[in-house]
Amino acid sequence: MTQTAARPPNTPVEVHDNILGAIGNTPIVRLNRVVEGVGARVFAKLEFMNPGGSIKDRIGAWLLEDAERRGVLRPGGLVVEGTGGNTGIGLAMAAAVKGYECVFTVPDKMSEVKIKVLRSLGARVVVTPTVPPSDPRNYCNEARRIAAARPGSVYIDQYNNLANREYHYRHTGPEIIRQLPQVDVLVAGLGTGGTLCGTGRALKEYRPDIRVIGVDPYGSVLHEAYRTGVMGTPAPYLIEGIGKDCIPSNIDFGLIDDVVRVGDRESFLMTRSLLRREGIYAGVSSGAAVVGASRWIRGAGAHLSGQTVVVILPDSGSRYVTKAYDDEWMAAQGLLDEEPEVGEGRPSDD
Ligand code: PMP
Repeated sequence: MTQTAARPPNTPVEVHDNILGAIGNTPIVRLNRVVEGVGARVFAKLEFMNPGGSIKDRIGAWLLEDAERRGVLRPGGLVVEGTGGNTGIGLAMAAAVKGYECVFTVPDKMSEVKIKVLRSLGARVVVTPTVPPSDPRNYCNEARRIAAARPGSVYIDQYNNLANREYHYRHTGPEIIRQLPQVDVLVAGLGTGGTLCGTGRALKEYRPDIRVIGVDPYGSVLHEAYRTGVMGTPAPYLIEGIGKDCIPSNIDFGLIDDVVRVGDRESFLMTRSLLRREGIYAGVSSGAAVVGASRWIRGAGAHLSGQTVVVILPDSGSRYVTKAYDDEWMAAQGLLDEEPEVGEGRPSDD
C-alpha cells in the first residue's frame, strides 16, 4: 500500500475527453515526520492534485451538471456563486469546458492569488467586505442579488445545495474505501460540510464504526453549535475555507463523532511543516486538518494505536504564496515564532 519508490515513468495513464475527466482519484500518502509519536497511522488525501488545485474541482463540474439537470442552467446562462475562491475555480474550470459565463463574490479576507486565478479563468469577481450573513454586503447575499437581477442566471449556493455532499457520498467516500479499505477515522475541515458529511456518510455505510471528525477554527460557530446546539458569536480568524458564521445545510451534525478546534498560528506553522518535513505543498486548511487530526488522536488515547486515519488536504500551497509561505506576511501577523510540536499551540478544551 505505501510505496517508498517513485512511480515508474512508464505507468499507464488515463486519457480523458476534457479536463473534467481528470478530477478525482487523488493520491493518498502516509504522513511521517509531522505526526511522529501521535499514536496512529495518519494518511493524507492530496486534493490539491485535482486539476484546478483543490477538492472543490469535484463539486464544480457536479453542481453545474446538477443545475443543468434541474433545468435552471441552459446554454448562454450565467453561473453565480459566493466563494472563498476554490469553489469558484472549480466552477469556472467546468464553465470554461461547457461555455458558461461566471460571476463570483469573494470576501476580502481571501488570498489575492485565488482572486487572480478566478479572473484568469475569465470570471467576473466582486470582492465584498468580510461581514456576517446578517449584513446585506455579505458575499452570499451579494451573489443572490446578482443572480436575481439577471435572467438566465443560477445561484449555485454550495452551502445549502445538498448536491454538494451528495457528490462526496457517491464519489469521494467510495474512492477512499477503494484506496484504503482499512480506514478507521476520517478527519476533514468543515466549510460547507459537504466533504466531511458526504464522505463520512459513505464511510459509515461501509463500516458503521468508522469515526468522522470535523475540524473548526477558533472564531467559527460550528464547534459550539455541534457541542451545545447554540450558535455563539463569530470572531475573525485567518484560516481560509473552513469555519462558518452560520450552519450550512450540508452539515449533518448527527453523522459527526467529534469536532476539534484549531488555532491560526498552529495551523499556519503546520502548513509550512508539511512542506519542509513531508515535501507536501498544501494550503492552510490542510495544516489545520493535520493539527486537528493529531489533537483528536492524542485526546482519544492509546486505543488508537495501529488505527488508520485519513486526513483530507483540500487545496494547494500555491494559493498561499503571499501568506503562509511569505515570511514577511507571517511575521507581520505574529505567526512566525518557534514551531510548536504537533497539536500544540492554543490550548483546546477538546
Ligand atoms: N479547505 C479549503 C481551502 C476550502 O476552500 C474548503 C471549501 N470551503 C474547505 C477546506 C472545506 O470543504 P467543505 O466546504 O466541503 O466543508
